[in-house]
Amino acid sequence: MPTPATGDIRPYRLYPLFADLRGRTVLVVGGGAVARRKVEALLEAGARVVVGAPRLDPALAEWAAQRRIEHCAGEFVPEWLDEAWLAIAATDDAAANHAIADAAERRYVWVNVVDDVELSRFQVPARVERGPLQIAISSGGGAPMLARLIRERLEAQFDESYGALAQLLTRHRERIRARWPAQDGHDLAERRRGFARLLAGPLQSLLRKRQHIAAEHAFDKLLGADAAQETAAATLGSVALVGAGPGDPGLLTLRALRLLNEADVILHDRLVDPGILQLARRDAERIEVGKRAGDGTQHHHATQERIHALLIEHARAGRRVVRLKGGDPFVFGRGGEELEALRDAGVPFEVVPGITAATACAAYAGIPLTHRGVAQSLRLVTAQCQSSLDALDWAALAQARETLAVYMGVAMLDTLQARLLAHGRAADTPFALIENGSRPDQRVVTGPLSQLAERAQAHGARAPALLVVGEVAAFADRLHWYGAPPLDMPRPALEAAA
Ligand code: SAH
Repeated sequence: MPTPATGDIRPYRLYPLFADLRGRTVLVVGGGAVARRKVEALLEAGARVVVGAPRLDPALAEWAAQRRIEHCAGEFVPEWLDEAWLAIAATDDAAANHAIADAAERRYVWVNVVDDVELSRFQVPARVERGPLQIAISSGGGAPMLARLIRERLEAQFDESYGALAQLLTRHRERIRARWPAQDGHDLAERRRGFARLLAGPLQSLLRKRQHIAAEHAFDKLLGADAAQETAAATLGSVALVGAGPGDPGLLTLRALRLLNEADVILHDRLVDPGILQLARRDAERIEVGKRAGDGTQHHHATQERIHALLIEHARAGRRVVRLKGGDPFVFGRGGEELEALRDAGVPFEVVPGITAATACAAYAGIPLTHRGVAQSLRLVTAQCQSSLDALDWAALAQARETLAVYMGVAMLDTLQARLLAHGRAADTPFALIENGSRPDQRVVTGPLSQLAERAQAHGARAPALLVVGEVAAFADRLHWYGAPPLDMPRPALEAAA
């Protein structure tokens, strides 16, 4: 048959297959690193592996000594295929690979020739493994790089709880079958619905929290209940309190990304970057619950109460709620208060830490927060209003060789400066004020503490900004690497024009 003009495109697709190799013989020809990787996967599948090669690499030789594999020493002979169900040719000799493929074909033995799509009768897909759960990806051999790329994406998307879930369901397979006996099409639909209810429940979130016993109990409850009770049990949603980091979506954690992919509802602060919200599941409902700077305390309180009520309401409606907060939810994020409200309401929750403004801004401004011989400790403080400033231990804050990371301080810079100086911090202590850290519009203003308020004002510094005070702040002038270099001197001409 003439080959199609389009080149390599095959008019057919490979047939996917998961093979039970337990106790079955597989021949691997080749004794090097490639063969070793193939042997490893085959052993995991429980195969009886025979390796044919003149010599074995040290790991294979050790396995042979331990009788985990059998070794046929020498060059390939067709008799090696006698007991094999499958064969893998992993030699670096093209002629030998050809001979193996031909001999296997004649004996109806499925053969894979590593990196040779034409000679291979079966291919080994790229895989994502989570316990007994396997996701296999194949491009038919035509675009292995694409298959690999997709594998990487799936790796990021599915966490280990899928493996634990697959294990739990496998363990209880008989009970699940008995619960929804499926003799005909009608019952099968019933089983499918029951199963969907089972999976909608809290099982996976419990497994993710490594609460295996609680997951077993939840399973028993879901399985034992009748349809109405089941629905009730499955209806309790959960809340994940997730740190979104300082703004750059690349600074999200893998877990945060996964939860955003699974969320039904996202309650986010105003500070959370739109680029991060874009990564969330398309049809997730997004609710902005942010507080604006300048809101009175009374108002703050009302807003916080409303957030608690919304979280509880959505979770009780059976939704997977992500409460997304800028930075880390436990650093000046009122995360603890929200969890207390959830606990009181009996709503299950989990917490995903985020990169907090102090570490993110310092990193993006080239400021090591601690540095040998320069700063041995770090303090995170908030300077939101006069009362929070009054509550601080100024004598302690004014100590040399300690780094201060001040959150929410832009409106209070002159007070901060005056009090630190009054309590003895040196006038030439460097500061760095990092506005919109890690974002495209990041700006860094540096200078000596004695000029903090003046310089910030000259540059029109605005929230969100993080202030670093301490000897380490001087590093910003030398180690800056992101965005524009620090603005150390006010530019009167520009400011006057603005
Ligand atoms: N939970 C957050 C802090 C919330 S308080 C965290 O862990 O980062 C809000 C303050 O955080 C802002 O006033 C500012 O001081 C700081 N902040 C948050 N994101 C910032 C950013 N991208 N750049 C500079 N400061 C930021």
